Amino acid sequence: MDDRQFRNAMSKFATGVTVIATEVEGQVHGMTANAFMSVSLDPKLVVISIGERARMLNLVKQSKSFTVNILAADQQEVSMIFSGQIKEAKEVQFGLLDGRPVIPGAVAQISCEVSAEHVEGDHTLFIGKVTDIHLEELEPLIFYSGKYRALKEEQPVKLS
Ligand code: FAD
Repeated sequence: MDDRQFRNAMSKFATGVTVIATEVEGQVHGMTANAFMSVSLDPKLVVISIGERARMLNLVKQSKSFTVNILAADQQEVSMIFSGQIKEAKEVQFGLLDGRPVIPGAVAQISCEVSAEHVEGDHTLFIGKVTDIHLEELEPLIFYSGKYRALKEEQPVKLS
């Protein structure tokens, strides 16, 4: 099986889009990520997966904390800034949640401390213990088959 076939298959799993943010020595760094999921309710745990070539990897190892910011439908540009899809440097203002940097206007801001890390192949999985959450009533940004999308309301199924 070649890499393209694997990537294509994985891209058929529709996801939201997050920006992972962390702070080391007063410098905030963000990275777009869709490898995110909820792990446990008690205790409240989530997982993110960071590639071995991402600058974010060593920064999260150092800070031992991160936030997950689930982007809103109008934040495609934010995703493109933090994935390097927009090349020119843009200034982004961060807010704070539980003392950690967060993206204003996100659907959800989730503040975490790293409780475990596991190297798996060319990625490292970080388990985050959730310490605080902030939610907004907004529509999410969607990523599917390599493209940004928006949710479409389904017509209710008519039962006869
Ligand atoms: P860089 O490439 O240095 O930073 C990323 C970009 O963010 C740069 O353009 C930088 O200028 C900008 N930036 C960082 N901090 C700031 C700041 N404080 N202010 C302004 N701009 C800033 N990779 C994964 O490892 N895991 C995933 O789950 C994942 N999911 C992805 C999902 C999508 C939809 C996309 C588009 C990409 C995904 N990627 C994922 C790829 C990842 O986002 C890129 O490879 C990214 O460039 C890696 O970031 P980096 O930490 O190496 O830092």
